[in-house]
Amino acid sequence: MKFDVLTLFPEMFESMKQSIIGRAIENNLLEVNLVNMRDFSKDKHKKVDDTVYGGGAGMLIKPDIVYDSYKSVKTEKSKVIYLSPQGKILTQKKVIDFAKNEQHIILLCGHYEGIDQRVIDKIVDEEISIGDYVLTGGEIPAMVFIDCVSRYLDGVISKESVEEESFSENGLLEYPQYTRPEIFEGLKVPEVLISGHHKNIDDWRRKESIKITYLKRPELLQKVKLTDSEKKYLKELENTIKNLSN
Ligand code: SAM
Repeated sequence: MKFDVLTLFPEMFESMKQSIIGRAIENNLLEVNLVNMRDFSKDKHKKVDDTVYGGGAGMLIKPDIVYDSYKSVKTEKSKVIYLSPQGKILTQKKVIDFAKNEQHIILLCGHYEGIDQRVIDKIVDEEISIGDYVLTGGEIPAMVFIDCVSRYLDGVISKESVEEESFSENGLLEYPQYTRPEIFEGLKVPEVLISGHHKNIDDWRRKESIKITYLKRPELLQKVKLTDSEKKYLKELENTIKNLSN
């Protein structure tokens, strides 16, 4: 997978050289190419923004510099995504679809008041938001996008790691996990996890996932297929919590 990032602040992406994504880039499992849109300014002062027609606060990124930056990297297979608070919210399902179906993604980062609408209309295939709040620029959202999509590319992290985690296909949040020491500040690791009994461990994890999802994000359970005995377990859980709050 190749990402071309159209940005006015390529230095912000330095942090992507670290850890898992940094290693994946080094190992050529993905490519992140930063395109400094300022390089496409025709202005002798390298101006990239201007005031808004009709009045109003802030500055807008000019359409021509965005368009020329885009043309410098566009191929037949490119998908252009504008990171925008007005876009569709990025979900794990979308992340998996992008990782599976795209080979070349161009990420357009706005800044200041945003980008001239004409170039958005001309080049953007999809607008993606990382949440219902407004950031100063699209750079952090672009890093979020690259990070979560890259986790689903072959070889970046183990298949097992992504299969069982929160928002994976089973629709549940992940169960709690523990590491050494076995006793920390008087708190012991759940006995079943050191039993070596795989079936019991799997059963315990599934129940904990159901419990945590019910406690933290109950709305997610509506889409989860539960067995009859899991439904019974959930009912008991609901009753216990009701009794506790009475
Ligand atoms: N004037 C815009 C509006 O009200 O919709 C907000 C512009 S914002 C200050 C500047 C840039 O940050 C946007 O062009 C976009 O690229 C990025 N941005 C801000 N919030 C975002 C979010 N929640 N998700 C993705 N990108 C965001």
